[in-house]
Amino acid sequence: MNILILGGGGREHALAWAVKQNPKCDRLIVAPGNAGIGAIADLAALDPCDATAVLACVAQNAIDFVIVGPEAPLASGVADALRDAGVLTFGPSAAAARLESSKAFTKEVCDACGAPTAAWARFAEAEAARDYVRAQGAPIVIKADGLAAGKGVIVAMTLDEALAGIEEIFGGAFGEAGAEVVIEEFMAGEEASFFILSDGVNILPVGTAQDHKRVGDGDTGPNTGGMGAYSPAPVLTDAIQRQVLDEIIQPTVTEMARRGTPFQGVLYAGLMIENGRARLVEYNVRFGDPECQVLMMRLGAQVLDLLLACAEGRLDQISVQWAEDHALTVVMAAKGYPGPYLKGSEIRGLADLPEDSAHMVFHAGTALRDGKLVATGGRVLNVTARGETLRAAQEEAYALIDRIEWPEGFFRHDIGWRAL
Ligand code: ATP
Repeated sequence: MNILILGGGGREHALAWAVKQNPKCDRLIVAPGNAGIGAIADLAALDPCDATAVLACVAQNAIDFVIVGPEAPLASGVADALRDAGVLTFGPSAAAARLESSKAFTKEVCDACGAPTAAWARFAEAEAARDYVRAQGAPIVIKADGLAAGKGVIVAMTLDEALAGIEEIFGGAFGEAGAEVVIEEFMAGEEASFFILSDGVNILPVGTAQDHKRVGDGDTGPNTGGMGAYSPAPVLTDAIQRQVLDEIIQPTVTEMARRGTPFQGVLYAGLMIENGRARLVEYNVRFGDPECQVLMMRLGAQVLDLLLACAEGRLDQISVQWAEDHALTVVMAAKGYPGPYLKGSEIRGLADLPEDSAHMVFHAGTALRDGKLVATGGRVLNVTARGETLRAAQEEAYALIDRIEWPEGFFRHDIGWRAL
């Protein structure tokens, strides 16, 4: 079959790498892709949020199946447009994608189905929000309701930080995404991610992971899109996974169907674990980046079968063939990230690295210029390895990094520390 993947980051490189290994995949196109993806798939230069352009690409290339990678095209209804045109598509409708695009919506769904999460309130005006935080006290969490690329959340340890957060959001720092504020009880504990496919009725877990949001070693410095990840996440024991599926995921999927907006795609549950129980922090409606890279490494070619079963509503008829090993990915970013950073610096040494089922460098922000590989984004490479133990995977990944020549880049040296 001919397959189109929308997106162009490390997540989509990992998806493309896994899908390409499945014999069902004849032709693979990724739009817009990047330099690394271009080595294994055809690239189409289009905006994944432009439904008209995506439909034209599908028609021109006789595409049989579309996999939507990032959240923006989902939130803007690209999966709806594809399904309306009769195209088999992996990814939720815009209505179901509200589980990511509106924090207040997710909280309403949790309340309706009894899923454990932080106590919360929503406000459209600053005065009422200020009164509420004064009454509740700190620590407390202030969030812009809409999509703000991970920047619209203020975990306030003091009342002053909370009040400043309210000013910032209502002051327009996040535009429309900040038209409403969600204020939440602060949850203590350890965070982990759980990935579950849903075809609207059935659910199928596909793995656990932990990422590293802060830019610096020892979880210091500002938040980023993620500096590294590993899978599985030992904190998500079998018992906690069962609790999450029974108390959070299945109730959410049932509630979404009851509302007439069934969820089809991957639910990425951000969880807070404390005293052997998990509560929901947030949902994302797509694979995490860089968590996807470690999941794909461990799932391999079967990913295409799983995503097809999801899109075709037959998740009850398929099971996951689990790898018993560990995968770890280290993000190499351009110096300065997540602040302003230099673009266009050359990266050398990748051609000599092994590329096999245990070693992969997935590309995020890269391009080929005059035959040279250059950095074009903040997060640039995802250096990924598998091992029988997490320690072995970590050693392999850092051994690969040692062979990459990119003086303008940097990385964290402690990916995996929590589990090790
Ligand atoms: P991202 O894009 O980084 O996933 P987001 O904008 O979707 O972020 P959330 O995931 O809701 O926002 O919050 C970001 C981070 O803030 C969480 O990963 C968690 O560390 C922290 N956080 C959010 N809500 C709470 C809470 N109620 N208690 C404690 N920490 C929280």
